[in-house]
Amino acid sequence: MSESGGVPVVWCARYEVDIGSHVFPVEKYRLVKERLDASGVLGKADLQTPQPAAADDILRVHTESYWAKIAEGALTTDEERLLELPFSPELREASLLCAGGTTLAGRLAISRGRSVHLGGGFHHAFADHGEGFCLLNDIAIAAATLIEAQEVDRILVVDLDVHHGNGTASIFADEARVFTFSMHHQWNYPAIKPPGDLDVGLDDGVGDEEYMKLLREHLPRVLEEHRPQLVLYLAGADPFEADQLGGLGLTLDGLRERDEFVLNTTSDAGAALAVTLAGGYAIRPSDTVAIHCATVEAALG
Ligand SMILES: [Zn+2]
Repeated sequence: MSESGGVPVVWCARYEVDIGSHVFPVEKYRLVKERLDASGVLGKADLQTPQPAAADDILRVHTESYWAKIAEGALTTDEERLLELPFSPELREASLLCAGGTTLAGRLAISRGRSVHLGGGFHHAFADHGEGFCLLNDIAIAAATLIEAQEVDRILVVDLDVHHGNGTASIFADEARVFTFSMHHQWNYPAIKPPGDLDVGLDDGVGDEEYMKLLREHLPRVLEEHRPQLVLYLAGADPFEADQLGGLGLTLDGLRERDEFVLNTTSDAGAALAVTLAGGYAIRPSDTVAIHCATVEAALG
């Protein structure tokens, strides 16, 4: 079915890694896929399986010493504490597949207009270390790889996860071809937020109306000024009002409105769009799955 006319959807069963009892719901990758399958949404999609990112791709954005530690499984206790995940060869494999998955989704979006990655959005990984559940920065790896391959020369990262995209902002601080736009809860992790190209920090409990007002104010202007050929969208489920690690007050309807606005505005600007899931830690894991599925349904239109 790889030649079907549907929107390409990238997914891999190996994204679900055993990390023990943890706030990160790794099972969401399987549950989202199963729910989309059951509802028939994926029936019209073009399902694609990623290859792991190659070392050359990793090294475009991560340092040699950090990559060597990952390759050898030699992270220190302090580094693992900062990562907030137990390191394992399976986690490394999942992270490499995920970086390959976002790169594939970006490439498919460029050729076909739009794609969805049922994973990705690990925006807290820096060049020289991982943190906040993010071992490798798939967004940065994909952007740098597609620019290096001259498939595009202007990329916009629209990061609407509730947490600031600190790793991505840091990695692309001096890269004019990648514009990083983050709208996030200001008083949340990460404590230190390296400046991106546009950072909109929101106060506690900001709800649908205020959120959409700001998104409407900023996104069209950024698209017009940067004129990206490709948008990498982090459609985090964690701005949700019942998120354990959030701090904003968006409803399910508000999140749907957010996604539709990003999809429509990007399309109107003539840019390709690759959607990634990013974070989601709702008190009820089924809410996180429902939010991600609604994003995918909107994207598959
Ligand atoms: Zn997040």
